[in-house]
Amino acid sequence: MEFRLIERIRELTAQPRDDVRLGIGDDAAVLAVPAGQELVVAIDTLVDGVHFPRGTAPVDIGWKALAVNLSDLAAMGASPAWALLALTLPDADAGFVEGFAEGFARLAQPHRLALVGGDTTRGPLSISVVVHGFLPPGQALTRAGARVGDLVLVTGTLGDAAAGLHALRSPLREDDNRTSLRDFLITRLHRPTPRLAAGAALRGQASACIDISDGLLADLGHICSASGVGAEIDAALLPRSSALLDLYDEASALHFALSGGDDYELCFTVPAKQLAEVQANLSRLGCGVTRIGRIVEGDSVRVRGTDNAWLSIEHQGWEHFA
Ligand code: ADP
Ligand code: MG
Repeated sequence: MEFRLIERIRELTAQPRDDVRLGIGDDAAVLAVPAGQELVVAIDTLVDGVHFPRGTAPVDIGWKALAVNLSDLAAMGASPAWALLALTLPDADAGFVEGFAEGFARLAQPHRLALVGGDTTRGPLSISVVVHGFLPPGQALTRAGARVGDLVLVTGTLGDAAAGLHALRSPLREDDNRTSLRDFLITRLHRPTPRLAAGAALRGQASACIDISDGLLADLGHICSASGVGAEIDAALLPRSSALLDLYDEASALHFALSGGDDYELCFTVPAKQLAEVQANLSRLGCGVTRIGRIVEGDSVRVRGTDNAWLSIEHQGWEHFA
């Protein structure tokens, strides 16, 4: 049974690359790192009912399992190349594997990412993906380079995925005609877009960068602690989708944008004199980018409300094991 499933995964994710000397089918993959490049690796695990709601479509799980990992490469400024997939399944469900591999492949293909191996075991549904990417030496975007006076920017819009999760749990009444707004938010939850082109364009420009998986406050907080600085954010500047603003009141929309996880946008800092160039570069890529605040002395993230008073924030986002 397992052999046929693996064979199907191999077919659906086929991606010819010269640097894959040996892919799926042997005891290990053999890969050629391009001369003069650094290898960047990351792993993320998705557990059923924890990282995606029970009953999520296999095609969405496949997309997301890869997307969250590619987002980590994007946050480093790296270009993706290869992946490994560890699948733990309750049973040999060919339909699940078919949908999963299709979602995975749909995201992998445009990035020319090759699945080069993995492992398939029986147990409660859980998926680990390892991704490998390349970077010119010394060009990694880390969390540690933010300096006082730098500006804080984010790609895309914030809070959509958290609102999508909320929407999933509170179905609309039958006569409610806002299904397309709701579907937009739910798609943002299930099909995050890793900001790979933006991350690569930020090499040599951003002083620090992180992807927003746990919420803006939590993840910007990681930049601040790694860089030994604080940050001030303006609530009025937070980019929010019209779907979010149409479906939720201001307080909820603000909460989702500040503390909601799963958006997989990039949050990064740039020296003020580079603002115009960075904005132009990302716009040229079709990637929305918004200045939301600045780096200050200190060690915390503060949010200025629309009335100019500092907001008191209870939940700084999703905390693992909290
Ligand atoms: P071994 O027992 O030597 O580890 P496996 O039977 O686990 O071999 O795997 C056989 C081949 O299939 C290997 O090349 C492995 O990388 C690949 N493989 C197994 N499971 C997956 C998976 N879920 N996705 C991609 N490749 C896989
Ligand atoms: Mg094995």
